[in-house]
Amino acid sequence: MGTVVHKYGGTSVGSTERIKAVADRVVRQCANGDRVAVVVSAMGGETDRLTALGRDVADRSIPREMDVLLASGEQVTIALLSMALIQRGQRARSYLGGQVHIRTNDHHGRARIEEVSTERLHKDLDQGIVPVIAGFQGIDESGNVTTLGRGGSDTTAVAIAAALEADECQICTDVDGVYTADPRVVEDARRLDQVTFEEMLELASLGSKVLASRSVEFAGKYRVPLRVLSTFEDGPGTLITVETNMEQPVVSGIAHTPDEAKITMAGVPDVPGVASRILGPIGRAPIEVDMIVQNTGGDGLTDFTFTVKRDDYERALEILEPVRLDLGARELSGDNKIAKVSVVGVGMRSHAGVATRLFDALAAENINIQMISTSEIKISVVVAERYMELALRCAHTEFGLGEGAGEGRT
Ligand code: ASP
Ligand code: MG
Repeated sequence: MGTVVHKYGGTSVGSTERIKAVADRVVRQCANGDRVAVVVSAMGGETDRLTALGRDVADRSIPREMDVLLASGEQVTIALLSMALIQRGQRARSYLGGQVHIRTNDHHGRARIEEVSTERLHKDLDQGIVPVIAGFQGIDESGNVTTLGRGGSDTTAVAIAAALEADECQICTDVDGVYTADPRVVEDARRLDQVTFEEMLELASLGSKVLASRSVEFAGKYRVPLRVLSTFEDGPGTLITVETNMEQPVVSGIAHTPDEAKITMAGVPDVPGVASRILGPIGRAPIEVDMIVQNTGGDGLTDFTFTVKRDDYERALEILEPVRLDLGARELSGDNKIAKVSVVGVGMRSHAGVATRLFDALAAENINIQMISTSEIKISVVVAERYMELALRCAHTEFGLGEGAGEGRT
């Protein structure tokens, strides 16, 4: 008998029919003798709808009230799921974030969980009651309602699992696990049985949208075994754990991020302080910068290139034109039709030549690499957006990730 936290996302609780199916699933798990706590999101699309309502009545952001508004989405689903459980003869009780003391800091709209009190939850679990907890929300020190940022229910679930010292935190969703690549793009993408926290963090932040990256960070920190699995089909899903000493495949997965843009300031003086003068105003905008590349200088001049989200492209150019004049740089240019493809794997640590294999594979398809960046367990390349899918498929094949490829490999 163990303690398990289930988290159901917006799609899984998107209608009363689905909520009833979720209730059946929870009842089945309880019948195993497990102690189950549940965290839910708002019904799919509801948070967007509430956001639009808020924007409709006020054109300036009013963070405290926006949080009260957004938190209401999860209040609906905790009640409905609890009612569906009780209807099935399973004792259950719904809780808003504040009612189980999910204490956060006071940063409305992006609050961080600081503390969770488990007293009430343990009491319920000990009596065979399923606590159903609103995800995505908490309460600050002064008692104000806060929200954690979009996708925040994953983080709530992990925080609850950590506080309860649960055996597993199951993120139940509309896909049956984490894949070697996006199956909508790569036909023979395969579900991974296991992936490490580190790899998942790279895959999550690189745009494989299965889990919010903050929840993975949290789970890694508190060593909460996390499993991504389907709400509606039985299956083992993907377990996210600490690195095992089992031999790791060189590459575990390939992520892609479309909708990127790159900006180059050419002919900037190669002197101290230039990077900070270029990226300072961008950071303060605030515009998020991803890859940064600076050439080695020649003739005392250098080129400086970085990438941003495509939505920020025009604004970044506007911000930088006065900076260019100020620095006396030759030219400001850019390209907003680029994408990033990244191969990720902890096995890279112990295998040389991964980068070369990737570059050779891309060259064989005549795909030009515009930028490269690496970390210990990741190699990212920027390519023209029209080659993104091809790059993804050819990297997937090169590293033997396709269906059936896992056989004979441990
Ligand atoms: N309902 C919130 C959202 O849509 C939180 C979540 O689903 O995780 O972002
Ligand atoms: Mg979600």
